[in-house]
Amino acid sequence: MTAPVCAADGDLIPAVRTGLLIGGQVVDGRGEPIPVTNPATGEVFTTVAAADEQDVDDAVRCAQETFQSGVWRDLPIHDRARLINRFADGIEGRMKDLYRLETANNGRPITETKAQITRLAEWYRYNAALLLADRSSVIPMRGDYHTYTSRFPLGVVAILSSFNHPMMIASKSLAPALATGNTVVLKPSEQTPLTALLLGEIAQDAGIPDGVLNVVPGLGPSAGAALVEHPLVKKAVFTGGTEPGRAIAVATARRFAKATLELGGKSPVLIFDDTPVDVAARGAAFGGFIGAGQTCIAGSRLLIQRSFYNDVVEALSKVASAIRIGDPALETTQLGPVISRRAQERILGCIRTGLDEGARLAAGGHAAQVPGLPGGFFIEPTVLADVTNSMRVAREEIFGPVVVAIPFEDEDEAVALANDSDFGLGSAIWTRDVARAHRVASRLETGMVWVNDHHRLDPSSPWGGVRDSGVGREGGWESFNDFTHVRAVTVRTAPDDVDWYGGIATDRLN
Ligand code: NAD
Repeated sequence: MTAPVCAADGDLIPAVRTGLLIGGQVVDGRGEPIPVTNPATGEVFTTVAAADEQDVDDAVRCAQETFQSGVWRDLPIHDRARLINRFADGIEGRMKDLYRLETANNGRPITETKAQITRLAEWYRYNAALLLADRSSVIPMRGDYHTYTSRFPLGVVAILSSFNHPMMIASKSLAPALATGNTVVLKPSEQTPLTALLLGEIAQDAGIPDGVLNVVPGLGPSAGAALVEHPLVKKAVFTGGTEPGRAIAVATARRFAKATLELGGKSPVLIFDDTPVDVAARGAAFGGFIGAGQTCIAGSRLLIQRSFYNDVVEALSKVASAIRIGDPALETTQLGPVISRRAQERILGCIRTGLDEGARLAAGGHAAQVPGLPGGFFIEPTVLADVTNSMRVAREEIFGPVVVAIPFEDEDEAVALANDSDFGLGSAIWTRDVARAHRVASRLETGMVWVNDHHRLDPSSPWGGVRDSGVGREGGWESFNDFTHVRAVTVRTAPDDVDWYGGIATDRLN
């Protein structure tokens, strides 16, 4: 099942798969087919198959059989690493199709999509390298024993990804899940299923055995829920909203399956008055408006030292108003649409709420009109000033191009405001004072802290949140190891045999 699909630049990508991938077969789903919309035009440009609960069960059982067969789990690690590197080669080979398709599907400007996706293969190569670099540790057990650890894979891993960075989000977990020998059922967001289907095809072309990676687009409450509740799924990695994340935490805990939950955020950006005003304004715009603010770590809560608060708000408003909004397929576009009409209306509603609460509109605030794209879901980059940390716009995730600006007096107040949030994903500090940078970083209760920057991630660096931003980490050894169980192997090296009942026991058991 394939269909020609119009890429972001208007060219046709001739044969994009639109069926589910289960056990190496491309099959029709039993769910209602999913219309895929280009957010820049508001038009449906293709339809993909959707999995229902039965399809999800088929995919999980197939992944389980493949796992049990040993075709992947028992492959010598050098061969598994070689196949994962070949998968990375395939991703690089289809790079242009991948980023054009992704931009057509989620509306992110092509320059941003390229900047992100040209690094995609690194996640696979890094985790293949960890597989070869992994060493077991020797444990200093008391007595005549040689104790060491080794790791074994979990089984079937479910990956449920969000719409905002479909391939990067999927790959952050897919790479370590595959490297450690698990099999995977990937359910992309129903809003952005196309590139996940292409990833499945690339994996097959690379020689990853059938059934190791299964891809099942489908709706969250039906296919997604069936996947995380499936008794054969041993770990769920969910990237999405905090409320579905809470339900998934409960569903997995009930059967003691693992869960990594990458949820929402309201990342504080602490801007101290030793930062030049133009540097602060550009940094805040970068933190807040990339991806039209649809990133979990968007720097959406600006905490600005009062001594230069008005200057920064004014400079930021000028930067925001100059951002080029337009067709995401064009290299000159700096800000694309948000994902859907519904999201556009919701975000505009949040702006109205902020104004009702007493915020001052310093920039933007409206739907943007883009010539030639009357049906697109565009929103002006928006700055809400004179906000207090108790307002809803300061506490709730907006997930659009909207930042709020809150003044603070000194370092202690900045830290207190930053930590006064239900979320704890990312944060940023802007200062020229190196001692303050480290001091403040050590007091922020977030999984990531950037100093004089934002948005940076790497396969080697742990990523994840605290509180309502989730549990678990992606990236680095932390993530790699969490796709395995550890086992301790204890070998008796004493010259005599065990004879516990032969007399009075004098051995220690612990
Ligand atoms: P979403 O929660 O609507 O959907 C995410 C995925 O979960 C989709 O595949 C969806 O089909 C599925 N899903 C939805 N409800 C489900 C349910 N009840 N059971 C099982 N699966 C379900 O999120 P979204 O709108 O695609 O993404 C935006 C959210 O993702 C934001 O809150 C953002 O902060 C968060 N996010 C977090 C990170 C991170 O690393 N922490 C990264 C990106 C996005």
